[in-house]
Amino acid sequence: MLSTMQDVPLTITRIMRHGTTVHGTSEVVTWTGAEPRRATYAEVGRRTAQLAHALRGLGITGDQRVATFLWNNQEHLECYLAVPSSGAVLHTLNLRLPADQLIYIANHADDKVLVVDGSLVPLFAPALPHLATIEHVVVTGDADLAPLEGQGKQIHRYDDLIAGQPTEFPWAEDIDERTAAAMCYTSGTTGNPKGVVYSHRSTYLHSMQVCMVEGFGLGPTDKVLPVVPMFHVNAWGLPYAAMLSGASILMPDRFLQPEPLAAMIAAEKPSIAAAVPTIWTGLLDHLDQHKTDVSSLHEVVVGGSACPPALMEAFEERHGVRIIHAWGMTETSPLGTVARPPAGLDREAEMAYRVTQGRLPASVQARLVGPDGTFMPHDGESVGELEVRGPWIAGGYVGGETGADSAEGDRFHDGWLRTGDVGTLTPDGFLRLTDRAKDVIKSGGEWISSVELENLLMAHPDVAEAAVVGVPDEKWGERPLATVVLRPGATAGLAELREFLAARVARWQVPERWSIVQAVPKTSVGKFDKKVIRRQYGDDELD
Ligand code: ADP
Repeated sequence: MLSTMQDVPLTITRIMRHGTTVHGTSEVVTWTGAEPRRATYAEVGRRTAQLAHALRGLGITGDQRVATFLWNNQEHLECYLAVPSSGAVLHTLNLRLPADQLIYIANHADDKVLVVDGSLVPLFAPALPHLATIEHVVVTGDADLAPLEGQGKQIHRYDDLIAGQPTEFPWAEDIDERTAAAMCYTSGTTGNPKGVVYSHRSTYLHSMQVCMVEGFGLGPTDKVLPVVPMFHVNAWGLPYAAMLSGASILMPDRFLQPEPLAAMIAAEKPSIAAAVPTIWTGLLDHLDQHKTDVSSLHEVVVGGSACPPALMEAFEERHGVRIIHAWGMTETSPLGTVARPPAGLDREAEMAYRVTQGRLPASVQARLVGPDGTFMPHDGESVGELEVRGPWIAGGYVGGETGADSAEGDRFHDGWLRTGDVGTLTPDGFLRLTDRAKDVIKSGGEWISSVELENLLMAHPDVAEAAVVGVPDEKWGERPLATVVLRPGATAGLAELREFLAARVARWQVPERWSIVQAVPKTSVGKFDKKVIRRQYGDDELD
């Protein structure tokens, strides 16, 4: 028997229309380093319509790809809304990728129009001649366009292009919710990057989950600061969730260093922020040295890599900011789990839940596959590779690629996504990751969790950052190598750090190889770059 319900497609057009009308007085504030730029969602709605008209004028009449090479700012939000709402596909390009990967990705996605940030023209210009499918480049702000000219592409200024266009657009009501809305490439560690294509439906449902209390709990009285880049996994879905819930947005633009971040929090008073742990580690150091009022932040979402428990405790105790740990990946839109403990627990029991990667929402189903391919029980102890499925989880990559050429191997089987993450699940749905399958250190037939050693080291008062990788060892197969960044004025030496670890883990897990480094190398999205660490420090002497 069929239901008697209306069959209304779940589209970004709907999210855009709701945000720019019902929540028309909410605002997007873009940090500029001087006077912030402000616009209400109603104004953003008018400019979104103008941008959609302008894109039509550039030949975007169907599901062509419109790429962005932008910081988190108002124009990027307008692209997020105008491109999918008019039936085209938004392709966010990662600003920090090496040129060869950027070129591969833009050509592979068949990008037709590219919107580039004025401040990034010098960085972007050398790649332009290699972007074979790009016909139009649209530049924001008043940057010098000379480096882009004479290369066979039409160059436009964003504001000139939309000026004079009608402020209303005949948005289609009948976009098929299963069609492509946006795409993002994973950073392939081996093999080429793979494109994940989000649908209107997956984005709509994901945005609702972000708004839920079990998600990030966004509402119309919030102001959200997405430090996570809009060029990677849709800034964890926050721009669309803000439009859906009416939360205002504070956009950090290119001011991602601790000092401007502290200044914008103090001045603009966001209630929620989100970023990878390395950003918060930097901000914590700054706040410890320069007292700043960050009390407007009632929650900070941390994910993308494991959040050190010491970071959580320090933010809460010293600055009154509660960190919420979450897990996800490009292939999961990204919201997978969020660590919100059950009610009625004392502080210690609550903390035990909060340091996990978090709890599964109803729409994300999970299972653990053990080393011999059997399913492991969800008992909080049995370890296996995590596999997930659900309405906002990728079922494949663009062009039918499967990831079989990468270090992780084929990512998809019988309707499930293999995450490449290893860990446990409790009966009440909490995920604890012990490692990434490729980072776990296999020493003499035993597994050592690199993340556990890192978290312990980062709990030492003299350690600012620590990354642990496995390096080849004749006797044991692999042994851990610890790279450590000491805080200014630190007195601890390596012997003390070794003893510190030895008191907390089994002796055989304590690394023999150590390096004191100035900074831990980071990936294009700010995570520890373990491949580079292995290459740079893998030959260091035993201590
Ligand atoms: P990349 O491979 O470029 O890092 P993603 O941003 O998709 O791409 O990264 C997803 C991966 O990040 C996950 O598979 C997981 O290994 C790691 N990750 C994300 N959140 C967490 C977390 N809270 N704790 C530990 N690892 C995490």
